[in-house]
Amino acid sequence: MAQFFSTRNDKERVSGSKAIIHGIASDGGLYVPEKFENIYKECMEMDNYSDVCNKVLSSFFPEIGISEQVEMAYSKFSENPPVIIKKAGDFNVVELYHGPTCAFKDFALSVLPHLVRKSKEIEIDSNNTVILAATSGDTGKAALEAFSNKDTYEKDIQIVVLYPQNGVSDIQKRQMITQEGSNVNVIGINGNFDDAQSAVKDLFADKKLRELLMKDNLDFSSANSINIGRLIPQIAYYFYSYTELVARGEIKEGEKVSFCVPTGNFGDILAGYYAKKMGLPVYRLICASNENDVLTDFFQTGIYNKKRQLLLTASPSMDILISSNLERLLYHISASTNMVSKWMDQLEKQGFYCIFGDDEKFNEKIKKELEIFIGFSSSHALSQETIHKTYKKYGYLMDTHSSVAYSAAEEIHLPGKTIVLSTASPFKFAPSVCEALGLDISGLSEFEILDLLSSKTGVEIPGPLRELEGKEVIHNLMAERSDIKEVVTALLKRQ
Ligand SMILES: *Cc1c(COP(=O)(O)O)cnc(C)c1O
Repeated sequence: MAQFFSTRNDKERVSGSKAIIHGIASDGGLYVPEKFENIYKECMEMDNYSDVCNKVLSSFFPEIGISEQVEMAYSKFSENPPVIIKKAGDFNVVELYHGPTCAFKDFALSVLPHLVRKSKEIEIDSNNTVILAATSGDTGKAALEAFSNKDTYEKDIQIVVLYPQNGVSDIQKRQMITQEGSNVNVIGINGNFDDAQSAVKDLFADKKLRELLMKDNLDFSSANSINIGRLIPQIAYYFYSYTELVARGEIKEGEKVSFCVPTGNFGDILAGYYAKKMGLPVYRLICASNENDVLTDFFQTGIYNKKRQLLLTASPSMDILISSNLERLLYHISASTNMVSKWMDQLEKQGFYCIFGDDEKFNEKIKKELEIFIGFSSSHALSQETIHKTYKKYGYLMDTHSSVAYSAAEEIHLPGKTIVLSTASPFKFAPSVCEALGLDISGLSEFEILDLLSSKTGVEIPGPLRELEGKEVIHNLMAERSDIKEVVTALLKRQ
């Protein structure tokens, strides 16, 4: 059975089901798998998305059988197969946003509730689970949709989402505050994504609070990509895209390709790194950032420095200064839980760390391990111009996150094929997309903007976004940063 351990302590191993239920290790570290199996050959023989996903899942979680649920989860996507690949100019663009909430987070979050339920059965865990999620916009809705009991009326899982009030798009916000289901809670916080994420990490680490909740049979788990159960399902679309492009004759079997990934919390691109560890022929992974360029600097200098201002950009789901999953990469390149603990401690206390030290051999080793990553930060002007240009030249419409990646792929221009991941529907960020196309939106409501974008481009508004217009606002709870713990505790006590 596959085992997992914390990035900060490799002495204690836990089963996959425990790692999923806990979400985060008790020392504050993130769970990583002890080994990776090569599944390339087997995946090359598959042409069904759910089969690839089940192969990936069973490689890490052989004891958690959810193959039927996986099949069902992906049948709820508006496209079949759920991954659509389109050629736009030099690049194949992998559209990952045809799920129920119109962003790529649906790929993992459609599966996560099944992983959690099954894990609780295996561990004979009778606690009610409180899923805590901090969101930069898309995780929140995808998690709400996936865990809400609006169809099932189950009470064993509660979900609490924290979103930055002024850091998400209007449509993202509306998606969350209209969420139905008696087990869902949505809290707007006066702060940014990093504040929301730290609040969640603090709640996890608060032993007293957890003891208090335990008395009511409540325990926390996470829907963020700090949860290994959230990360693993994302490996599947790397393998699937590759096999699909081989089938189309776009690439030869065994040919190395690069992926360009619009990055925030480093979960999506880390899944690409895991795919490489599992045998996928990957040449480079381009880590595309918006003007929040902390990762670009890191890949160039080895220094991670969060002491800078968080900028609110047109790609809000990537407005992040502390990319949690980088911690997992740090473990994989260093193989040292001591070093990772030290770096994370420095990040917390001093606001930065440097992965290079006095040991030249160690420096060389990690430099080599990091070679496959290339960081690029795309300016607002460049990514907006890219939306305009790709639409005009190729008739291809993309959102503000995907254009960060597309522009990075163009600027870096690697040898061989580069595959660009497209993470959200352009209609989720319609005002910025309209701006890029030169469409005047002044005086229009958020829904009139959707209509305008659709009528000017001929691209249909996705059903789940169109339906928001008639939906009642259910959640209007707000909290100051300093009150988050109190507000969450009060919510849980009430239920
Ligand atoms: C979450 C998100 C990203 C960033 O993904 P990470 O896994 O956090 O790096 C990029 N684009 C969109 C649309 C997202 O929702």
